[in-house]
Amino acid sequence: MRVDVRIRIAYVRKFIFITGGVLSGLGKGVLAASLGFLLKARGYKVTLQKIDPYLNVDAGTMNPYEHGEVFVTADGKECDLDIGRYERFLHQDLSASNYITTGQVYWNVIQRERRGDYLGKTVQIIPHITEEIKRLIRKPLEESGAEIGIVEVGGTVGDIEGLPYLEALRQMRDELPRDDTCFVHLTYIPVLSTTGELKTKPTQHSVKELRTVGIQPDFIVARTHSPLDQGIRRKISLFCDVPLPHVIEGLDLPTIYEVPLALEAEGFPDKVLAVLSLSPRKGDHGEWEGFVERLKNPDSTVRIGIVGKYVELHDAYISIIEAFQHAGAALGVRVELSWIPSAQVEKTTDVLRDLAGILVPGGFGERGIEGKIITADYARRERVPYFGICLGMQVAAIAFARHALGLREANSTEFQPETPHPVIDLLPEQRHLRAKGGTMRLGAYPAVLKANSRAREIYGKAEIAERHRHRYEFNLDYLGDFERAGMIASGLSPDGRLVEIVEIPDHPWYIGVQFHPEYTSRPLRPHPLFVDFVRACAERRS
Ligand code: GLN
Repeated sequence: MRVDVRIRIAYVRKFIFITGGVLSGLGKGVLAASLGFLLKARGYKVTLQKIDPYLNVDAGTMNPYEHGEVFVTADGKECDLDIGRYERFLHQDLSASNYITTGQVYWNVIQRERRGDYLGKTVQIIPHITEEIKRLIRKPLEESGAEIGIVEVGGTVGDIEGLPYLEALRQMRDELPRDDTCFVHLTYIPVLSTTGELKTKPTQHSVKELRTVGIQPDFIVARTHSPLDQGIRRKISLFCDVPLPHVIEGLDLPTIYEVPLALEAEGFPDKVLAVLSLSPRKGDHGEWEGFVERLKNPDSTVRIGIVGKYVELHDAYISIIEAFQHAGAALGVRVELSWIPSAQVEKTTDVLRDLAGILVPGGFGERGIEGKIITADYARRERVPYFGICLGMQVAAIAFARHALGLREANSTEFQPETPHPVIDLLPEQRHLRAKGGTMRLGAYPAVLKANSRAREIYGKAEIAERHRHRYEFNLDYLGDFERAGMIASGLSPDGRLVEIVEIPDHPWYIGVQFHPEYTSRPLRPHPLFVDFVRACAERRS
């Protein structure tokens, strides 16, 4: 007789759900990331997940000038910028499963339906879509072994798109032991300008909205301009039916990196742990506090120009902004960014005059490209530190071909398919691709750095891996001419086919990288390229 002996391993698996009400843009991502940071600092294994209730399958096809930057994970998923924020606060790489969109949920369910997995059944939002949502919410914990999954539901409670998610979360609360889930609701407390009074009514309404879908929050985090006094806290507690200590102040702060420290002061992480029946622990935030101190008290300032197509929406470049903050804090330098539309440079390079350094970031499409090429050429001639990222490297190569090699019509085939000198071109494997979604070169790829190059010196090692998001590449046919004229390939793919870094050795600092170093810069581990670039800019100034 066979005995079925199954050993049940008891491991902790808890979920914290973060919803938002009243307004969008209150900082749910910063709240989720900060809570993740605080729980991780207490020794818990944490993962963070973002739900985007859009029908896009991933963020790759969304316009960064509407939604902000497209962030890329090491395993190549194109995500919302919040995933970048999570990685920076958690100091840990996340993966494709940390990002869910409605498009992906429906895609999975519809594929299953086509395969016949639901044969005979009517496929419905409840239970089929909600089951798929729950499966995707459990996935990152299963993959990473995390004990706590913090899940941020994008959008605002009451949005039609968000309903299936809230229903899935409600089901999880019912299905799991009561202390396996915790709901945190972020709201906004406006101040009436005439009387200076803080108003709680919008918060009450948004909690009511949440209750209509069967969710009672455990915590209210109230975003506010001025501190919440006891009276306001009591009012929120009473009308929203949360215990008084569970009303948490979310005061506006000079930098998002202070948010974890403010939440700690409110005792928030230990109160959340209590709801989840997890033991409170002491967290060590010493290094983080040191970073915040350095960030807030720089010794000097350096002004760096960012030349891009549309520089109005800074969220489109958020990882670059953050990477400069990390590098600046490491050096005790405040990096002041000047945003320069490339169309302005096309009129006159005077707008580049007072800059200590110039960065040209990634981008797509022809518009504004000539201004970027002029910028790259200006920085080379004027010996201004230049940092080109992705498209910023490609324009540096085009500018070099045109002005140092005399190939006047050099271009990328992205902008001029018939150019006689395609110094930037598609690889054969990209040529046949028609579909745009998820077909670029995405995620982390290794590169080998050339001995004695500046890149090698900056990284302090010969092998690196960096994250990519592009379709076009440096055309190797031209590399010999480039190197003879003074622009070298200092980083190549291990097979030597792809140029990953170019630099001009005879220049104070001129580096272009085909990848996105900004994605992996962290407060406590600034990216070496950003640190060295800021250092070079600061030295030029002094
Ligand atoms: N448009 C360029 C390409 O596809 C650069 C992309 C980028 O800067 N991220 O190769």
